[in-house]
Amino acid sequence: MLIVKKFGGTSVGNAERIFNVARRCIEDYNKGNDVVVVLSAMGKYTDELIDKAKEINEKPPKREMDMLFTIGEQMSVALMAMAMDKLGVRAISLNAFQVAMHTTSQYGNARLKRIDTERIRHELEDRKIVLVTGFQGINKYDDYTTLGRGGSDTTAVALAAALHADACEIYTDVDGVYTADPRLVKNAKKLDEITYDEMLDLATLGAGVLHNRSVEMAKKYGVQLVVRSSLNNNEGTVVKEDVNVERMLISGVALDREADRISVIGLKDEPGMAFKLFDVLAKKHINVDVILQSIGRHNTKDISFTVADTQADEALKALQANKARLNYQDISLKKDVAKLSIVGAGMMSNPGVAAKMFESLYNAGVNINMISTSEIRVTVLINEADSEKAIQAVHDAFMAED
Ligand code: ASP
Ligand code: MG
Repeated sequence: MLIVKKFGGTSVGNAERIFNVARRCIEDYNKGNDVVVVLSAMGKYTDELIDKAKEINEKPPKREMDMLFTIGEQMSVALMAMAMDKLGVRAISLNAFQVAMHTTSQYGNARLKRIDTERIRHELEDRKIVLVTGFQGINKYDDYTTLGRGGSDTTAVALAAALHADACEIYTDVDGVYTADPRLVKNAKKLDEITYDEMLDLATLGAGVLHNRSVEMAKKYGVQLVVRSSLNNNEGTVVKEDVNVERMLISGVALDREADRISVIGLKDEPGMAFKLFDVLAKKHINVDVILQSIGRHNTKDISFTVADTQADEALKALQANKARLNYQDISLKKDVAKLSIVGAGMMSNPGVAAKMFESLYNAGVNINMISTSEIRVTVLINEADSEKAIQAVHDAFMAED
């Protein structure tokens, strides 16, 4: 079997943890498997690198940020190779150049395009454990790129797809995917299985486990994933196309505090306004999420939408720069909002799911700012201060019975 295993920052946070991971990998290797291991930077090292950069320049060039970021993952794979050597097993560390992992050119948010597999295959044939840096790639200028925060998951899935791996295991510091963040909701339950689509929504909406692009890629290439803890031997959660278990009404509740709301007031109520507005943002690669447009009155309308807080200032600036062309009256940015979502394929066949969510929020005294829905998801925008009571109330409403 060829197994791709990915370990997150907390799983390799110190020397003891590194040896723990090394032993787990060696166990598989000793059974005769080919083992490819993707690692994140140790602990909060990536955050520390951001702090270091900001000490020097509060708006560091993105190219140089990526150059800096790649140190973190490189440190992890090198130390892991040393740990395995110490344990008497042949291992080799490879960075994005050595593999090579080709990405689009966008620094800080690149997408994997192609992975050369010869080097990895060669090392596996030589009976080595292959340790690959997560999160990073190289672009057509031979520069380092990174895949966006949490991108090591995507590296692992992409490698699993490219190598036609028999298993792709994502190790983290929790036991799997939960019905809600167990740090926020005490009675959250671990799911045994979840579909790609549900996982994609949960990942995108801030569930904290799995990079959303890794799920997108897993679905596209049919890579079955297991999310499990590196600190115990519990079963974990399987992410796949169809689930066998009897469907719950919803699979999870996700909270995203990193959402900000921008409101553009007094746009002309005429065709093309929404296009012009969102085109400005698209050209800057700014992702827009929940969108609300008011009904036109007195020939004007308002459009509000959410963006990730990391892009909010850039979005605001871009729209202000285009004020003359967009011809709106006012614009505002509200940062203390949060996005709360319920996700579940069971919604499709059960009317009343949204009403149940709204009722539970009403009972908890939580006001709803915006609403958006899809076939398997309902998202509301709330005041950030209400986050904790809101997620608990909604979770209780759906999970209490079973
Ligand atoms: N080290 C990177 C981050 O903290 C990538 C990852 O952990 O997946 O975002
Ligand atoms: Mg992660």
